[in-house]
Amino acid sequence: AVAVLGSANMDLVAYVPTAPRRGETVTGTAFHTVPGGKGANQAVAAARAGGAVTMIGAVGADAFGTRLRTVLTDAGVDTDGLRTTGGASGTAHIVVDDAGGNSIVVVPGANAAVDALTGGDEARIAAAGTLLLQLETPLPGVLAGARTARAHGVRVVLTPAPARQLPDELLAATDLLVPNEHEAAALSGTSDPERAAVALLSAVPEVVVTLGAAGCLYAARGADPVRVPAPRVRAADTTAAGDTFVGALAVARGEGRPMAAALAWASAAAALSVRREGASASMPYRREIDAYLDT
Ligand code: ADP
Repeated sequence: AVAVLGSANMDLVAYVPTAPRRGETVTGTAFHTVPGGKGANQAVAAARAGGAVTMIGAVGADAFGTRLRTVLTDAGVDTDGLRTTGGASGTAHIVVDDAGGNSIVVVPGANAAVDALTGGDEARIAAAGTLLLQLETPLPGVLAGARTARAHGVRVVLTPAPARQLPDELLAATDLLVPNEHEAAALSGTSDPERAAVALLSAVPEVVVTLGAAGCLYAARGADPVRVPAPRVRAADTTAAGDTFVGALAVARGEGRPMAAALAWASAAAALSVRREGASASMPYRREIDAYLDT
């Protein structure tokens, strides 16, 4: 089983010809609410990929919280570990202009409450084979999750996003680190993905650097880094491609598949999500991933 400790957010996306300056009001052309947050996205991705998934996190006592919970339960994710706090759900206020540029305000809201584990959370992690962590919830909670996983022999997969300096203890408890190109560069101080991956092996035993349409790069101690190409697809929306990749990878590895096969399967899952519009709504189901690889 897969446990996910992380964020749940509602993205509030407004489209405008030109972003407003301070004091200015502009008329937008469209508005969407998109359920997201890296934690919730990885949970939905893993569940659709066929995993038994439990989510540890928090939503607010508002309509966004209700919807975020429903998105998870609809995907088959166990939400007993998803608390409802008194305040607002986490939100991301995104303004997209005609040139495709965006400005974003993230308000953590309920996610700020995921700073410590309950006894129930510890039991959920201990019962899992893999724990998925990201950095959109407070670091003390992430660390507590990693520590608990370590203590119970649960494999820790860390997506180091948003990029930030990581405490040694978190890296020491991480089995697999999955940064994208930018995060790998920020963590290692080198922009060449291959050199970055090799540098990160001094801190963790396995690294997968995702490279967007260029696929990914897998590095493990004692072996040469391997590139895995991404299937060529017409990209409609790359939102949550990385989360889809991580969710599917965790499921495949949890089933005992070799890394090369698991990476190919995760790449297929991510490519399928990129072909369709939407964040978690675009994530493929297990049979779609299998069918895509068969053709
Ligand atoms: P993130 O979304 O976290 O920034 P990436 O952009 O590196 O991460 O994408 C994660 C994975 O999703 C890639 O390794 C690749 O497998 C897949 N992917 C992303 N963009 C594309 C694309 N345009 N075509 C095919 N696969 C893609």
